[in-house]
Amino acid sequence: MTKPDAWGESLAECRRLDREDLLTPLSRQFLIARTLIYLDGHSLGPLTRSASAAVQRTVRGEWGPMIIGGWNEADWIGLPARTAARIAPLIGATPEETACADSVSVNLFKLAAGALALRPERGTILMVEGEFPTDGYILQGLARLRPDIRLKTVPAPELTQALDSDTALLVSSHADYRTGALADLRGLSQAAAAVGALSLWDLSHTTGLAAIDLNEAGADMAVGCGYKYLCGGPGAPAFAFLARRHHAGFLNPIAGWMGHARPFDFEANYAPATGADRLMAGTPPILSMAALNAALDLFDGVAPQALLARSRALSSLFERLTAPMAKAHGFTLVSPADPERRGGHLAYTHPEGYPIMQALIAAGVVGDFRAPDLIRFGFSPLVVSRSQVWTAAKTFASVMENGLWRDPAFSQRQKVT
Ligand SMILES: *Cc1c(COP(=O)(O)O)cnc(C)c1O
Repeated sequence: MTKPDAWGESLAECRRLDREDLLTPLSRQFLIARTLIYLDGHSLGPLTRSASAAVQRTVRGEWGPMIIGGWNEADWIGLPARTAARIAPLIGATPEETACADSVSVNLFKLAAGALALRPERGTILMVEGEFPTDGYILQGLARLRPDIRLKTVPAPELTQALDSDTALLVSSHADYRTGALADLRGLSQAAAAVGALSLWDLSHTTGLAAIDLNEAGADMAVGCGYKYLCGGPGAPAFAFLARRHHAGFLNPIAGWMGHARPFDFEANYAPATGADRLMAGTPPILSMAALNAALDLFDGVAPQALLARSRALSSLFERLTAPMAKAHGFTLVSPADPERRGGHLAYTHPEGYPIMQALIAAGVVGDFRAPDLIRFGFSPLVVSRSQVWTAAKTFASVMENGLWRDPAFSQRQKVT
Protein backbone atom coordinates (compact mmCIF):
# COMPACT_ATOMS: atom_id res chain seq x y z
CA MET A 1 0.00 0.00 0.00
CA THR A 2 2.85 2.42 0.72
CA LYS A 3 3.49 4.66 -2.24
CA PRO A 4 6.35 7.08 -2.74
CA ASP A 5 3.99 9.96 -3.57
CA ALA A 6 2.13 11.04 -0.41
CA TRP A 7 -0.94 12.13 -2.34
CA GLY A 8 -0.73 9.12 -4.63
CA GLU A 9 -3.62 7.50 -2.87
CA SER A 10 -6.50 9.12 -4.56
CA LEU A 11 -9.70 10.19 -2.95
CA ALA A 12 -11.47 7.77 -5.26
CA GLU A 13 -9.45 4.92 -3.82
CA CYS A 14 -10.34 6.01 -0.26
CA ARG A 15 -14.01 6.10 -1.24
CA ARG A 16 -13.78 2.64 -2.75
CA LEU A 17 -12.20 1.22 0.41
CA ASP A 18 -14.86 2.94 2.55
CA ARG A 19 -17.59 1.32 0.48
CA GLU A 20 -16.04 -2.12 0.93
CA ASP A 21 -15.52 -1.74 4.69
CA LEU A 22 -18.23 -3.49 6.69
CA LEU A 23 -17.90 -0.96 9.52
CA THR A 24 -18.65 2.06 7.31
CA PRO A 25 -22.48 1.86 7.60
CA LEU A 26 -22.17 2.03 11.42
CA SER A 27 -21.16 5.70 11.16
CA ARG A 28 -24.84 6.42 10.40
CA GLN A 29 -25.54 5.75 14.07
CA PHE A 30 -23.96 9.10 14.94
CA LEU A 31 -25.77 12.43 14.96
CA ILE A 32 -22.89 14.46 13.63
CA ALA A 33 -22.73 17.21 10.98
CA ARG A 34 -21.72 15.75 7.62
CA THR A 35 -19.23 18.54 7.02
CA LEU A 36 -17.43 17.97 10.32
CA ILE A 37 -14.34 15.77 10.39
CA TYR A 38 -14.23 14.64 13.97
CA LEU A 39 -10.79 13.37 14.94
CA ASP A 40 -11.38 13.75 18.68
CA GLY A 41 -13.25 10.56 19.56
CA HIS A 42 -10.34 9.65 21.85
CA SER A 43 -11.38 12.59 24.07
CA LEU A 44 -15.15 12.74 23.76
CA GLY A 45 -17.12 10.38 21.57
CA PRO A 46 -19.95 11.90 19.48
CA LEU A 47 -23.67 11.56 20.19
CA THR A 48 -25.37 8.42 18.90
CA ARG A 49 -29.02 8.29 17.79
CA SER A 50 -29.59 5.65 20.39
CA ALA A 51 -28.15 7.70 23.29
CA SER A 52 -30.10 10.75 22.21
CA ALA A 53 -33.36 8.79 22.13
CA ALA A 54 -32.62 7.12 25.47
CA VAL A 55 -32.11 10.45 27.23
CA GLN A 56 -35.38 11.80 25.78
CA ARG A 57 -37.16 8.63 26.87
CA THR A 58 -35.71 8.69 30.35
CA VAL A 59 -36.55 12.34 30.89
CA ARG A 60 -40.03 12.45 29.33
CA GLY A 61 -41.18 8.86 29.71
CA GLU A 62 -39.71 8.01 33.11
CA TRP A 63 -38.55 10.94 35.23
CA GLY A 64 -41.54 13.10 34.27
CA PRO A 65 -44.42 10.69 34.85
CA MET A 66 -42.86 8.28 37.37
CA ILE A 67 -40.76 10.59 39.51
CA ILE A 68 -39.55 8.49 42.46
CA GLY A 69 -41.43 5.47 41.13
CA GLY A 70 -38.85 5.25 38.33
CA TRP A 71 -36.40 3.50 40.63
CA ASN A 72 -38.69 0.46 40.58
CA GLU A 73 -40.97 0.91 37.55
CA ALA A 74 -38.16 1.77 35.14
CA ASP A 75 -35.64 -0.25 37.16
CA TRP A 76 -33.24 2.69 37.49
CA ILE A 77 -31.79 0.86 40.47
CA GLY A 78 -30.67 -1.95 38.15
CA LEU A 79 -29.31 0.37 35.44
CA PRO A 80 -25.67 0.48 36.68
CA ALA A 81 -25.51 -3.34 36.72
CA ARG A 82 -27.16 -3.60 33.29
CA THR A 83 -24.67 -1.08 31.91
CA ALA A 84 -21.72 -2.82 33.54
CA ALA A 85 -22.88 -6.11 32.00
CA ARG A 86 -22.66 -4.53 28.52
CA ILE A 87 -19.15 -3.18 29.20
CA ALA A 88 -17.88 -6.50 30.60
CA PRO A 89 -17.51 -8.31 27.23
CA LEU A 90 -15.56 -5.35 25.83
CA ILE A 91 -12.87 -5.81 28.48
CA GLY A 92 -12.75 -9.59 28.86
CA ALA A 93 -14.54 -9.59 32.22
CA THR A 94 -17.72 -11.10 33.63
CA PRO A 95 -20.64 -8.87 34.66
CA GLU A 96 -19.99 -9.80 38.31
CA GLU A 97 -16.47 -8.38 37.96
CA THR A 98 -17.58 -5.07 36.44
CA ALA A 99 -19.17 -1.99 37.98
CA CYS A 100 -20.34 1.20 36.31
CA ALA A 101 -20.03 4.22 38.58
CA ASP A 102 -18.40 7.55 39.31
CA SER A 103 -15.42 8.86 37.32
CA VAL A 104 -12.14 7.18 36.42
CA SER A 105 -10.42 9.27 39.11
CA VAL A 106 -12.76 8.12 41.88
CA ASN A 107 -12.70 4.48 40.76
CA LEU A 108 -8.90 4.57 40.66
CA PHE A 109 -8.85 5.78 44.24
CA LYS A 110 -11.26 3.08 45.39
CA LEU A 111 -9.33 0.28 43.70
CA ALA A 112 -5.83 1.51 44.61
CA ALA A 113 -6.69 2.09 48.26
CA GLY A 114 -8.44 -1.29 48.40
CA ALA A 115 -5.46 -2.95 46.72
CA LEU A 116 -3.06 -1.64 49.39
CA ALA A 117 -5.20 -3.32 52.03
CA LEU A 118 -4.86 -6.60 50.12
CA ARG A 119 -1.04 -6.30 50.31
CA PRO A 120 -0.57 -4.92 53.85
CA GLU A 121 3.06 -6.00 54.16
CA ARG A 122 4.15 -4.02 51.05
CA GLY A 123 5.00 -0.31 50.78
CA THR A 124 5.31 0.70 47.11
CA ILE A 125 2.91 1.74 44.35
CA LEU A 126 4.68 1.61 41.01
CA MET A 127 3.42 3.96 38.31
CA VAL A 128 4.58 4.72 34.80
CA GLU A 129 6.22 8.12 34.28
CA GLY A 130 4.08 10.61 32.36
CA GLU A 131 0.87 8.83 33.27
CA PHE A 132 -2.38 10.72 32.65
CA PRO A 133 -2.27 13.51 35.27
CA THR A 134 -5.40 12.56 37.22
CA ASP A 135 -4.00 9.07 37.83
CA GLY A 136 -0.83 10.57 39.30
CA TYR A 137 -2.75 13.10 41.39
CA ILE A 138 -5.04 10.42 42.83
CA LEU A 139 -2.09 8.20 43.76
CA GLN A 140 -0.21 11.17 45.25
CA GLY A 141 -3.30 11.94 47.33
CA LEU A 142 -3.50 8.33 48.44
CA ALA A 143 0.18 8.37 49.42
CA ARG A 144 -0.48 11.45 51.58
CA LEU A 145 -3.20 9.55 53.43
CA ARG A 146 -0.89 6.59 53.78
CA PRO A 147 2.54 7.91 54.86
CA ASP A 148 3.80 4.31 54.97
CA ILE A 149 3.32 4.05 51.18
CA ARG A 150 5.83 5.26 48.61
CA LEU A 151 4.75 6.22 45.09
CA LYS A 152 7.52 5.32 42.67
CA THR A 153 7.47 6.51 39.04
CA VAL A 154 9.59 4.94 36.31
CA PRO A 155 9.68 5.18 32.49
CA ALA A 156 7.48 2.60 30.78
CA PRO A 157 10.34 0.40 29.52
CA GLU A 158 11.67 0.04 33.10
CA LEU A 159 8.41 -1.05 34.74
CA THR A 160 9.13 -4.78 34.74
CA GLN A 161 12.59 -4.29 36.20
CA ALA A 162 11.28 -1.97 38.91
CA LEU A 163 8.80 -4.57 40.24
CA ASP A 164 10.03 -6.16 43.46
CA SER A 165 8.92 -7.80 46.69
CA ASP A 166 7.92 -4.40 48.13
CA THR A 167 5.59 -3.56 45.21
CA ALA A 168 1.98 -3.70 46.34
CA LEU A 169 0.47 -2.35 43.13
CA LEU A 170 1.43 -1.59 39.55
CA VAL A 171 -0.63 1.15 37.86
CA SER A 172 -0.46 1.75 34.13
CA SER A 173 -2.55 3.02 31.26
CA HIS A 174 -3.15 0.52 28.49
CA ALA A 175 -2.55 3.27 25.90
CA ASP A 176 -0.42 6.32 26.65
CA TYR A 177 -2.69 9.38 26.45
CA ARG A 178 0.03 11.39 24.75
CA THR A 179 1.52 9.02 22.18
CA GLY A 180 -1.14 6.33 21.97
CA ALA A 181 1.58 3.70 22.50
CA LEU A 182 0.10 0.44 23.80
CA ALA A 183 1.49 -1.21 26.92
CA ASP A 184 1.90 -4.97 27.15
CA LEU A 185 -1.18 -5.62 29.28
CA ARG A 186 -0.61 -9.33 29.57
CA GLY A 187 3.17 -9.23 30.03
CA LEU A 188 3.05 -6.57 32.75
CA SER A 189 0.11 -8.16 34.57
CA GLN A 190 2.01 -11.44 34.63
CA ALA A 191 5.26 -9.74 35.73
CA ALA A 192 3.41 -8.02 38.58
CA ALA A 193 1.79 -11.29 39.63
CA ALA A 194 5.19 -13.03 39.53
CA VAL A 195 6.48 -10.77 42.34
CA GLY A 196 3.20 -10.96 44.25
CA ALA A 197 2.07 -7.45 43.28
CA LEU A 198 -1.38 -6.49 42.00
CA SER A 199 -1.99 -4.81 38.64
CA LEU A 200 -4.41 -1.94 38.04
CA TRP A 201 -4.99 -0.87 34.45
CA ASP A 202 -6.42 2.37 33.15
CA LEU A 203 -8.31 1.38 30.00
CA SER A 204 -9.64 4.87 29.24
CA HIS A 205 -7.95 5.08 25.86
CA THR A 206 -8.65 1.54 24.64
CA THR A 207 -12.13 0.48 25.80
CA GLY A 208 -14.38 0.34 22.74
CA LEU A 209 -11.32 0.49 20.49
CA ALA A 210 -9.21 -2.60 21.16
CA ALA A 211 -9.91 -6.21 21.99
CA ILE A 212 -9.12 -6.35 25.71
CA ASP A 213 -9.11 -9.56 27.71
CA LEU A 214 -8.39 -8.71 31.33
CA ASN A 215 -8.99 -12.22 32.62
CA GLU A 216 -6.86 -13.85 29.97
CA ALA A 217 -4.10 -11.34 30.82
CA GLY A 218 -4.35 -12.13 34.53
CA ALA A 219 -5.02 -8.48 35.43
CA ASP A 220 -6.31 -7.81 38.93
CA MET A 221 -8.11 -4.49 38.58
CA ALA A 222 -8.98 -1.90 35.96
CA VAL A 223 -10.75 1.39 35.45
CA GLY A 224 -11.94 3.02 32.25
CA CYS A 225 -13.77 5.92 30.78
CA GLY A 226 -17.36 6.06 29.53
CA TYR A 227 -17.12 9.18 27.40
CA LYS A 228 -14.26 8.41 25.00
CA TYR A 229 -14.63 5.50 22.54
CA LEU A 230 -17.73 4.30 24.41
CA CYS A 231 -19.53 7.54 23.42
CA GLY A 232 -21.44 7.77 26.71
CA GLY A 233 -21.55 11.58 26.61
CA PRO A 234 -19.81 14.41 28.47
CA GLY A 235 -19.01 13.27 32.01
CA ALA A 236 -20.48 9.80 31.41
CA PRO A 237 -20.04 7.33 34.28
CA ALA A 238 -16.80 5.36 34.28
CA PHE A 239 -16.33 1.66 35.02
CA ALA A 240 -14.22 -0.49 37.31
CA PHE A 241 -13.12 -4.12 37.12
CA LEU A 242 -12.21 -6.32 40.08
CA ALA A 243 -11.09 -9.88 39.30
CA ARG A 244 -13.22 -12.57 40.90
CA ARG A 245 -10.35 -13.91 43.03
CA HIS A 246 -10.34 -10.63 45.01
CA HIS A 247 -14.06 -10.45 45.65
CA ALA A 248 -13.97 -12.05 49.08
CA GLY A 249 -11.27 -9.83 50.52
CA PHE A 250 -11.74 -6.44 48.86
CA LEU A 251 -13.19 -3.48 50.76
CA ASN A 252 -14.23 -0.27 49.05
CA PRO A 253 -12.73 2.67 50.99
CA ILE A 254 -15.69 4.80 49.84
CA ALA A 255 -18.13 2.47 51.53
CA GLY A 256 -21.34 4.10 50.31
CA TRP A 257 -24.82 2.68 50.60
CA MET A 258 -25.09 1.72 46.93
CA GLY A 259 -22.20 -0.70 47.45
CA HIS A 260 -23.92 -2.21 50.49
CA ALA A 261 -25.33 -5.73 50.32
CA ARG A 262 -28.81 -4.45 51.27
CA PRO A 263 -29.00 -0.68 50.79
CA PHE A 264 -32.72 -0.50 51.53
CA ASP A 265 -32.52 -2.38 54.80
CA PHE A 266 -30.97 0.80 56.21
CA GLU A 267 -28.69 -1.15 58.53
CA ALA A 268 -26.35 0.79 60.78
CA ASN A 269 -23.24 -1.07 59.68
CA TYR A 270 -21.64 -1.62 56.33
CA ALA A 271 -21.71 -5.01 54.63
CA PRO A 272 -20.30 -5.13 51.10
CA ALA A 273 -22.43 -6.24 48.17
CA THR A 274 -21.24 -9.32 46.32
CA GLY A 275 -18.67 -8.99 43.53
CA ALA A 276 -17.89 -5.71 41.82
CA ASP A 277 -21.21 -4.24 43.00
CA ARG A 278 -19.30 -3.31 46.14
CA LEU A 279 -17.40 -0.76 44.05
CA MET A 280 -20.51 1.41 43.93
CA ALA A 281 -20.70 4.33 46.35
CA GLY A 282 -23.53 6.84 46.00
CA THR A 283 -26.72 7.17 43.96
CA PRO A 284 -26.02 6.63 40.25
CA PRO A 285 -26.62 9.49 37.74
CA ILE A 286 -29.54 7.98 35.83
CA LEU A 287 -29.65 10.41 32.90
CA SER A 288 -25.95 9.98 32.14
CA MET A 289 -26.14 6.27 32.73
CA ALA A 290 -29.09 5.97 30.33
CA ALA A 291 -27.03 7.71 27.64
CA LEU A 292 -24.03 5.46 28.20
CA ASN A 293 -26.12 2.31 28.28
CA ALA A 294 -27.77 3.18 24.96
CA ALA A 295 -24.49 4.28 23.35
CA LEU A 296 -23.20 0.77 23.96
CA ASP A 297 -25.58 -0.40 21.20
CA LEU A 298 -22.68 0.67 18.96
CA PHE A 299 -20.75 -2.44 19.93
CA ASP A 300 -23.50 -5.01 19.46
CA GLY A 301 -22.25 -7.52 16.95
CA VAL A 302 -18.96 -5.71 16.26
CA ALA A 303 -15.70 -7.62 16.65
CA PRO A 304 -13.26 -5.50 18.71
CA GLN A 305 -10.40 -6.76 16.52
CA ALA A 306 -12.06 -5.12 13.52
CA LEU A 307 -12.26 -1.80 15.36
CA LEU A 308 -8.57 -1.47 16.14
CA ALA A 309 -7.62 -2.74 12.69
CA ARG A 310 -9.74 -0.06 11.04
CA SER A 311 -8.43 2.64 13.36
CA ARG A 312 -4.85 1.67 12.52
CA ALA A 313 -5.60 1.69 8.80
CA LEU A 314 -6.96 5.22 9.20
CA SER A 315 -4.06 6.51 11.28
CA SER A 316 -1.57 4.95 8.86
CA LEU A 317 -3.31 6.64 5.95
CA PHE A 318 -3.19 10.02 7.70
CA GLU A 319 0.43 9.53 8.67
CA ARG A 320 1.42 8.64 5.09
CA LEU A 321 -0.55 11.44 3.47
CA THR A 322 0.84 14.10 5.79
CA ALA A 323 4.42 12.83 6.21
CA PRO A 324 6.24 15.12 3.72
CA MET A 325 4.28 18.21 4.84
CA ALA A 326 4.74 17.34 8.53
CA LYS A 327 8.49 17.04 8.02
CA ALA A 328 8.72 20.31 6.07
CA HIS A 329 6.80 22.21 8.77
CA GLY A 330 8.65 20.91 11.82
CA PHE A 331 6.20 18.35 13.22
CA THR A 332 7.61 15.37 15.07
CA LEU A 333 5.51 12.22 15.22
CA VAL A 334 5.73 10.94 18.79
CA SER A 335 3.36 8.00 18.31
CA PRO A 336 4.92 4.62 17.53
CA ALA A 337 5.78 4.45 13.82
CA ASP A 338 4.70 0.81 13.84
CA PRO A 339 0.86 0.81 13.69
CA GLU A 340 0.82 -2.52 15.56
CA ARG A 341 2.17 -0.76 18.65
CA ARG A 342 -0.36 2.04 18.78
CA GLY A 343 -3.91 2.65 19.92
CA GLY A 344 -6.43 4.98 18.31
CA HIS A 345 -4.65 8.30 17.91
CA LEU A 346 -1.57 9.93 16.44
CA ALA A 347 0.33 12.69 18.21
CA TYR A 348 2.80 15.22 16.92
CA THR A 349 4.85 17.80 18.77
CA HIS A 350 5.14 21.31 17.38
CA PRO A 351 6.04 24.53 19.24
CA GLU A 352 2.98 26.25 17.70
CA GLY A 353 0.71 23.27 18.32
CA TYR A 354 -2.04 25.26 20.04
CA PRO A 355 -2.78 27.83 17.30
CA ILE A 356 -2.30 25.19 14.61
CA MET A 357 -4.97 22.98 16.16
CA GLN A 358 -7.30 25.97 16.60
CA ALA A 359 -6.89 26.81 12.90
CA LEU A 360 -7.63 23.20 11.98
CA ILE A 361 -10.77 23.20 14.13
CA ALA A 362 -11.89 26.42 12.44
CA ALA A 363 -11.38 24.63 9.11
CA GLY A 364 -13.65 21.76 10.21
CA VAL A 365 -11.05 19.22 11.33
CA VAL A 366 -11.42 18.66 15.07
CA GLY A 367 -8.45 17.20 16.94
CA ASP A 368 -7.04 18.36 20.25
CA PHE A 369 -4.03 19.90 21.97
CA ARG A 370 -2.25 18.73 25.10
CA ALA A 371 0.21 21.00 26.87
CA PRO A 372 2.96 21.76 26.37
CA ASP A 373 3.23 21.12 22.63
CA LEU A 374 1.27 18.06 21.58
CA ILE A 375 -1.46 17.89 18.93
CA ARG A 376 -3.52 14.72 18.67
CA PHE A 377 -5.65 13.26 15.89
CA GLY A 378 -7.96 10.43 16.91
CA PHE A 379 -9.22 7.76 14.54
CA SER A 380 -12.33 6.46 16.20
CA PRO A 381 -13.08 3.54 13.91
CA LEU A 382 -16.87 3.84 13.86
CA VAL A 383 -16.85 7.61 13.40
CA VAL A 384 -14.16 8.35 10.83
CA SER A 385 -13.91 7.21 7.19
CA ARG A 386 -10.92 7.01 4.86
CA SER A 387 -12.25 9.77 2.65
CA GLN A 388 -12.54 12.01 5.72
CA VAL A 389 -8.94 11.20 6.62
CA TRP A 390 -7.94 12.22 3.10
CA THR A 391 -9.78 15.55 3.45
CA ALA A 392 -8.31 16.09 6.93
CA ALA A 393 -4.79 15.55 5.58
CA LYS A 394 -5.45 17.98 2.71
CA THR A 395 -6.82 20.58 5.14
CA PHE A 396 -3.85 20.14 7.47
CA ALA A 397 -1.50 20.74 4.55
CA SER A 398 -3.34 23.87 3.43
CA VAL A 399 -3.48 25.31 6.98
CA MET A 400 0.30 24.95 7.14
CA GLU A 401 1.10 26.05 3.60
CA ASN A 402 -1.08 29.14 3.83
CA GLY A 403 0.02 29.95 7.38
CA LEU A 404 -3.65 30.23 8.43
CA TRP A 405 -2.74 29.39 12.01
CA ARG A 406 -0.77 32.66 12.36
CA ASP A 407 -4.02 34.59 12.85
CA PRO A 408 -3.66 35.88 16.46
CA ALA A 409 -7.23 34.79 17.24
CA PHE A 410 -5.99 31.18 17.19
CA SER A 411 -3.51 31.83 20.00
CA GLN A 412 -6.22 32.77 22.52
CA ARG A 413 -6.14 29.90 25.00
CA GLN A 414 -9.51 28.50 25.99
CA LYS A 415 -10.20 26.75 29.31
CA VAL A 416 -10.51 23.30 27.74
CA THR A 417 -7.97 22.49 25.05
C1 LIG B 1 -9.83 10.40 30.07
C2 LIG B 1 -8.97 9.75 31.08
C3 LIG B 1 -9.30 9.81 32.43
C4 LIG B 1 -10.54 10.55 32.86
O1 LIG B 1 -10.71 10.59 34.23
P1 LIG B 1 -12.05 11.12 34.87
O2 LIG B 1 -11.82 11.07 36.30
O3 LIG B 1 -13.16 10.20 34.43
O4 LIG B 1 -12.27 12.51 34.36
C5 LIG B 1 -8.48 9.16 33.32
N1 LIG B 1 -7.37 8.49 32.92
C6 LIG B 1 -7.02 8.43 31.61
C7 LIG B 1 -5.81 7.68 31.20
C8 LIG B 1 -7.80 9.07 30.67
O5 LIG B 1 -7.46 9.05 29.39
